[in-house]
Amino acid sequence: MKKPQTNELLKQYFGYDDFRNGQSEVIEHILKGTDVLAIMPTGAGKSICYQIPALVLEGVTIVISPLISLMKDQVDTLRETGIKAVFINSSLSLTEFRNVVANAKMGMYKLIYVAPERLETDSFLELIQSIKVSMVAVDEAHCVSQWGHDFRPSYKNIPKMLEKLPQRPVVAAFTATATPQVKDDIIKLLKLNGPFSLTTGFDRENLYFEVLKPEDKFDQLLRYLSNVRGKSGIIYASTRKTVGSICEKLNKKGHLATRYHAGLTENERSNNQEDFIRDRIPLMVATNAFGMGIDKSNISFVIHYNMPKNMESYYQEAGRAGRDGERAECKLFYSAADIITNKLFIENGNDDRDKTGEYQKLNEIVTYCNTDRCLRAYILDYFGEKDTTPHCGNCGNCNNDIERTDVTLEAQKIMSCIKRMGERFGSVVVADVLRGSNTEKIRTMGFDKLTTYGVMREYSKDTIKELISFLIAEGYIVLYGDQYPVLRLSGMALGVLKGSEIVTIKRVINKQSTVFDEKTTIDNGLFDILKVIRKGLADKQNVPPFVVFSDATLKDMCKRYPTTDETMMAVSGVGAFKLEKYGEQFVSAIKSYIEEHSIEIDEQVHSKSKTGTAAKSKKTKTNKSKIDTRMATYKLYKIGQSIDEIADERGLSTNTIEGHLLDCLEKGMQVDFESLFPKEFEAQILEAIKSIEDGKLKAIKEALPEEVTYGAIRFVIYKNKV
Ligand SMILES: [Zn+2]
Repeated sequence: MKKPQTNELLKQYFGYDDFRNGQSEVIEHILKGTDVLAIMPTGAGKSICYQIPALVLEGVTIVISPLISLMKDQVDTLRETGIKAVFINSSLSLTEFRNVVANAKMGMYKLIYVAPERLETDSFLELIQSIKVSMVAVDEAHCVSQWGHDFRPSYKNIPKMLEKLPQRPVVAAFTATATPQVKDDIIKLLKLNGPFSLTTGFDRENLYFEVLKPEDKFDQLLRYLSNVRGKSGIIYASTRKTVGSICEKLNKKGHLATRYHAGLTENERSNNQEDFIRDRIPLMVATNAFGMGIDKSNISFVIHYNMPKNMESYYQEAGRAGRDGERAECKLFYSAADIITNKLFIENGNDDRDKTGEYQKLNEIVTYCNTDRCLRAYILDYFGEKDTTPHCGNCGNCNNDIERTDVTLEAQKIMSCIKRMGERFGSVVVADVLRGSNTEKIRTMGFDKLTTYGVMREYSKDTIKELISFLIAEGYIVLYGDQYPVLRLSGMALGVLKGSEIVTIKRVINKQSTVFDEKTTIDNGLFDILKVIRKGLADKQNVPPFVVFSDATLKDMCKRYPTTDETMMAVSGVGAFKLEKYGEQFVSAIKSYIEEHSIEIDEQVHSKSKTGTAAKSKKTKTNKSKIDTRMATYKLYKIGQSIDEIADERGLSTNTIEGHLLDCLEKGMQVDFESLFPKEFEAQILEAIKSIEDGKLKAIKEALPEEVTYGAIRFVIYKNKV
């Protein structure tokens, strides 16, 4: 009897034919008088779950909602459908409030929305004691929990209010996101009575999740936007200042964008919001102040320009994409600097509240940004969803086709360094020790005496920190403490340290520095060779080496790889005279180095003017493409192709392919060289290596039979460590 009735109401007032997943179950329980706790994602239609029963039940339903702006929208929407509703909050004048009370007593409303702070006031208590309250719906129920992301102390007064009513009404609590801990808190603190609890799937299948770590966030944003022109999207940034500058820059670049943050006038906020909702302007750049109560269904993407403060906020904000069920994208641009901003936000909260929970939540979202697991699975696990598939096939991590790299050795170095430092330091100091930084702190602590000091010299600080974050995400390392957490080893670390467990990462780990740091971005292999040549020339003329070329000049050559007179002239410190005198020797050394190491030259870096910072920043791209080309070779090798086949397919020389595979081997990846090179020449190669004094590969090669390749020689060198 009840079911057709609720269906009819649904059609009559809301215009839908059927209830959505979970709605009718919740409604049935409420109508039977059972308390309810419903956890439903944003956009699943949770308000219908209490609005329909409100129409069926006698008397009034009180809806407790924390958001004043949202309250007005909801009441307006209900009134348009013909449902008698009203709100009571601080925006009402005394006269308005008195009118509402008088009307309520005459039975003019089915729903009364109220801010939680009102529950304590005598005037409100007097009102609800004099009317029949059949149901209390608690919206955003996670606000009652200190573990939730929007704790509102007034929510704790809800049970007190219920006690003061002549008859306890049925209580229905709703939230979009709740971890298991928050869920327990809601039941306990709201004193729900044997509630029917329902969690509709958190998964939003049409959303594609991805975490990116752009070197230049704005550049990445522009590239993305050029692919989604005309589509509607939100770009969230963490500060008003960033919002302002992104919005301005986007408009300058021809992308129509508007903005929203709490620092704008109310007028501008509502105009901008309207422009976005009405599809007059496709892009909204905003702080997290934007989006509450916005029900725009055709948002195709949500980009987080900065990492949000926790997973709850992230899923809520990202979840504003694709409400229409169309495929939509949620991309998070992560950088380690976002952690610092978020820590400042936590610290600057002006009260003395316990901040442990907030730091914990921050660590959990940092983990999301650093895991190489399926991102959807991570989100669903986080919210306590059971039986999730470990591989969704529709997220950045599932779709990334990078081969797994073995980073066991790196993991061992990091973990043993943490242990030797007494598990008392954070990732910055640990990374400094591993890189062999010569700071006063390190010297006074005696860390330069540790066996792990400088064992990861070839990695940039950022790469080491990224590896540490990954090991935290994987549970090998745990963060201990709040504001300046220290790194400690978990039980899982033991297996890795003992060598019984391997660690792999599905990401390109860049050995060269990615930071703009002169000391580390140069190619050290080439630098050493150039120094030898310089020494030879200096000795011949009986002058000190720097008279030939300074270190800075050699380093610039290592960045630019000049192979012609013209490009050599672009090197800082090379004039016409020195070019004439020494140019040829350096150019030929660089050429053979490039050939031996199959380096791909970025033309812009190659010939950029002497002062360019652009040249320096481009260099990191060269490093990346170097690594990518190796990975492309490695992938073909892993599917069983021979060196000749790979060379053929990639349009490169066999020599280059051999070089790639050797680099992979040296990086600790699986390459079976014994089978790639015939063993019969090994002794002969060794002999040749020993007999050729200057150790030049070319000379060694010439001393051997033609079938012996450069790769075979390099492999023998590698294997025998000669
Ligand atoms: Zn996935």
